[in-house]
Parts: sequence; structure tokens; C-alpha cells
Amino acid sequence: MTTILEQYADIVGWEVIDQLYQLAAPLKGIKVVHVNSTRKGGGVAEILNKLVPLQKDLGIDVTWEVIKGNKDFFKCTKSIHNSLQGSNIELPQSMMDTYEKTNEKNAEKLKKKLNDADIVFIHDPQPAPLIKYFPERKGKWIWRCHIDVSKPQRTVWKYIKNFVKDYDASIFSLPAFAQPLPHPEYLIPPSIDPLSEKNMDLSREEIEQTVQSFGIDIERPIMLQVSRFDRFKDPVGVIQAFKLTKKFVPSIQLVLAGGEATDDPESNSVIEEVRLAANSNPDIHILLLPPDAHRTINALQRGADIIIQKSTKEGFGLTVTEALWKGKPVIGGDVGGIRIQVVNHHTGFLVKTPEGAALRARYLLFHRERLNEMGKKAKIFVKENFLLTRHLREYLTVMVSLKYGVKERIELG
Ligand code: UDP
Repeated sequence: MTTILEQYADIVGWEVIDQLYQLAAPLKGIKVVHVNSTRKGGGVAEILNKLVPLQKDLGIDVTWEVIKGNKDFFKCTKSIHNSLQGSNIELPQSMMDTYEKTNEKNAEKLKKKLNDADIVFIHDPQPAPLIKYFPERKGKWIWRCHIDVSKPQRTVWKYIKNFVKDYDASIFSLPAFAQPLPHPEYLIPPSIDPLSEKNMDLSREEIEQTVQSFGIDIERPIMLQVSRFDRFKDPVGVIQAFKLTKKFVPSIQLVLAGGEATDDPESNSVIEEVRLAANSNPDIHILLLPPDAHRTINALQRGADIIIQKSTKEGFGLTVTEALWKGKPVIGGDVGGIRIQVVNHHTGFLVKTPEGAALRARYLLFHRERLNEMGKKAKIFVKENFLLTRHLREYLTVMVSLKYGVKERIELG
């Protein structure tokens, strides 16, 4: 019988699969728990949905827990998220109290599970204070930061660091995000699953049907940004870029496809700003999709001519990886994780302004051969760097090294 992992052999080769089995051998049966703040919506949930079953498949006793909180808690964690990504926000004492109290309540519920675990991964700032309530923990605790903390608001970072410093290790997505901390820091970029509904091949017929079902004309050029409605994703900047491109390519249409993450209380006000900027333009399609619309997003990405990710801060940007994997060059904001995916002029273009984005969009629309050539490079680049199997290998390596205290090298086989 083929295991889940073995299904990837066709894409990455058997050597990669064998290496994963070898790395996982010393971890068989150990208890690993991942903790984050939402099961649906956003990149972290997307990744855990894929990584957890694979770790299980390798014989690790792994579970995924989601902390619970009320509106006030998520308002507070969104402020922390925004300020860690550089917004100048003060955290009032009442917010810190809500943040810590909610974590304390969750700690109660998770007490036995987390105390007994050999390795605990705490994802992002929302559950970061949990560690404070586990003085009797027996395993190693890792803080996995997915966001762009290259220039955090200092007071808020100092506050969060107070929790993070007690962890045994932390993981950041890029070197630019690493912070001075009194423990080992690992750099692991995220990944996509090439076999998931979000990324698998689709028939031309399905792509066309999906695109047309939203009233979008498949015969005319399509510019697409897939993102939660979040100001750091700059959807209004995308509309500006679209309007500038339309001066030269009048038939172009814009699709802003997003949804709501359950831990994001700001999306409604951003959607309002987007609607205002779109000003009922019939060629701007704002799609509010349910969190499990993976196949729909896949089809939209495959049906688009120009894929844009105009973020002004970006922890990584799985939407960029997803587009590159589908053979589409990406016009991306010159920030955070987009920089390690968009190799300027090769897998896409890095831009700083709506004008820059429009210039590159116009170029690609008028140079289709170049677009296709860059798209081919983009797919190879993802295959070599950003697939799930590489991500899994690096997580296994961190686990082996923390569990067995390996400092310099891990011998296989
Ligand atoms: N996504 C989705 N539905 C949406 C918007 C986004 O499924 O309406 C997915 C998107 O395809 C990607 C992930 O959510 O897999 C977003 O990850 P990314 O790293 O781009 O951004 P984040 O939301 O984590 O900031």
C-alpha cells in the first residue's frame, strides 16, 4: 500500500522520500503537539493541514490544537500581529490582560497534553504566552513565527520577547526576521503541497467553468490577487495598479479573491475600503470565498494572466508559491518572504508601488513569450525550494536536533 508520503515520489523522487524515512526513524512514537489559533483561513492553517498528516504517516504521535478566544482576544492579537509587522500601535494594559488571561484559560484545557508532549510547536504570537503556564513541561518548546518581524514596533516586541525567550528554540521564515534571543534560531521557509486541491493539475474545462461561474470573461485578460482582506496585502494598491494597467489594456479584468480567517477581526472594514476603491467598476470582481474553496482558488490562479501579490509586509506569501507552481510569474511587493520567491526578472517582478506593478503587468501582457518563459522558471524554482517535502525534512531535522541534542550534524542511515 502506498503511504501518503510515497505519493510525492513522482514529483520529488524516491531519494527524497527515503531520506525522510531515515530522518524520522529516531522520532517514531514521540509525542508532538502543534498549537495555533485557527483551523481555517490563512497560511498557518494551510500548512498544518498538510504537515500534520505527513508527520503522522512517519510514525510520530502528532496532534494539532487550536486555542480559543473571544472577539476581544482576537482584536488584541491582531493589534500585536500588526505591531510586530511594524505598525505603530500602543498596547493598552487591558489588551495585555485579555491576551494573557485567554492564554491562561487555554493552558488549563491543554495542561495534560502539553505537559506530556516531547515537542511542542507554538505557532505565531497568539498562543505565545502559553509557555508561562507550563512550569512542569517535560518536552522541548519551539516558537514558530510565521510573520514578518523584520522591523517590529519595539515595545510590543519587548513584551512578546518576554514569553519567547523561555522557549527552547524559535523558527523564522527568513534571516531578515531573526531577532536576538537566548536560544537556537532556525530558518525554515514554508511550503506548498503540490498534490492538494489548491495546487493539483486541473483540466482546462474546469478552469474555464470556475472562472466563468463568477461572471469573469475567460477570453479577456485577468489580473488576480488571492489574499485575506488585510491592509498589509494592499488590496487598494492592487486596484490602483489595475486602473493604471487598464489605460493600456482596456479589456483587462481584476479579481480580488479572499475570505475571512476566523482569527482576523479587521477584514470587514478592509472589504469596505476595497469596495469604495472599486467604485462599482464592473470589471473588478471582489470574491468572498469560503475558507475551503481550495479548488476554486486553484482554478482562478490557473485561469489568470497576471498574478499579483502587492503586500507591504509579508511573512512568506504562500499565494506567491501557489502561483509560481502553476507556471505564472508573480508581480510581488518587494518585502519579506516575497523576496525569496520572486527572483526579479526571472520568476517575476518585485515592485514597490502601484505604478511599478502596472508597468510590469503591461510588459507581461504585451510579451506573452517572456511571460511563459518566466512561468517555466517559476515552477522549477518552487520544485527545488518550496515543496512540502523540503519543509518536512527541515522540521524533522529540528526535532532530531532538539530531542537528541545534536549540535553539528545528523548522520543518516
Ligand atoms: N487563501 C484561501 N482563501 C482565501 C484567501 C487565502 O484559501 O480567501 C489561502 C491562500 O491560497 C494561501 C493562504 O490562504 O494558501 C494564505 O497564505 P499566505 O502565506 O499567502 O498569507 P497569510 O494569510 O498567511 O498572511
